[in-house]
Amino acid sequence: MDFISHWETERHNLPFAIDGVVIKVDRYDQQERLGLTSKSPRWAISFKFETERVRTRLKEITYQVGRTGAVTPVANLEPIQLGGTTVKRASLHNADQILRLGLIDGDYVYVEKGGEIIPKVVGVDESERAVVTDLFSQQSSSFPTHCLECATELVREEGEAIHYCPNRLTCPPQVKGRIVHFISRKAMNIDGLGSETVVQLVEAGLVVDPSSLYDLKEEDLLPLDRMAKKSVDKLLAGIEASKSISFERVLFGLGIRYVGETVAKKLARSLGNLDAIMRAEKEVLVEVDEIGERIADSVILYFADEGNINFVRRLGEAGLRLAVQEIVGATNKLDGASIVVSGVFEKHDRVGIKKLIEMHGGKVSSSISKKTSFIVAGDKMGPSKKEKAEKLEITILSEDEFLSKIA
Ligand SMILES: [Zn+2]
Repeated sequence: MDFISHWETERHNLPFAIDGVVIKVDRYDQQERLGLTSKSPRWAISFKFETERVRTRLKEITYQVGRTGAVTPVANLEPIQLGGTTVKRASLHNADQILRLGLIDGDYVYVEKGGEIIPKVVGVDESERAVVTDLFSQQSSSFPTHCLECATELVREEGEAIHYCPNRLTCPPQVKGRIVHFISRKAMNIDGLGSETVVQLVEAGLVVDPSSLYDLKEEDLLPLDRMAKKSVDKLLAGIEASKSISFERVLFGLGIRYVGETVAKKLARSLGNLDAIMRAEKEVLVEVDEIGERIADSVILYFADEGNINFVRRLGEAGLRLAVQEIVGATNKLDGASIVVSGVFEKHDRVGIKKLIEMHGGKVSSSISKKTSFIVAGDKMGPSKKEKAEKLEITILSEDEFLSKIA
């Protein structure tokens, strides 16, 4: 506690911002005994400091259109120091919050930096409300009715807090945003292609959606600014290489609302290929682990759109993976077995052993229990694990014994 309270104030003297401290059990044998959950180790936990809150003047509310067409208000603030950085903009989340806070330009607001990178407006100083002097200033804080980028009338679905621009096909930030998402590290991870280049390609009319990346040719790119032969080659090689990216990541890259990385993985693995996902009825989709009605509806809505269907068809024609790959050499030899891996191995590393277990239908577990089928142990197996295994009379296999079991 002394350590925490020391850093509570001392953190402001660090050359970087921190929002807490991590407390760890530092003895390896105790770490091993505590083990891990699926998400994090049980021997480390973070302590978050109280979030800092500052008061500043709201200069103006502006609106941003994102990749999904969602229109989000942004608070432009009188610059203020918060957590070691100067804050000029903060998020307001949605129209409901503006309404709830009754915000107008000129108000004094409270701003916090939570876990997110972007600070947010959390309240308004009631003692010093701005006065509405004319109709114009009042209107400047009311939510726009039309898209600021393409002038399409905004829509708001019932029960939803967010306004959307429905012009998916030609609204510039949506077009660029979808491509930037598609090429991002966790999706197609295209080497040599950054968001600035995307903007350049879209503005030059060379790319209208992610599928047109696969039609790019050297002669299209060379005339562009900052496109020397070398960067063109790199870009084209990156695009070519993305054709071998797994279906899970292609599915994530499509940018279907609510289909994040994890959901994409679950959908891909349980339905196997894009056709099956496109054809799936709601009842089938909600059967998939972690997929509820909201996600199922969003997937159905996405594939009800002819434009989207044509788009994924073009991705298929370009040679992208639209089905989960069968792993070569996979068997069911370890079907249903719960296996613990411990120690250091000779022929494979620990990750490799775990992959082999999964490839042959087994499940890797982090802690030994009565349900453990067997343990694969290399050198330096933890003494507490060994003791527990012996007590529960669980078989311990060497690396070679394990390999011959799946051979
Ligand atoms: Zn628009």
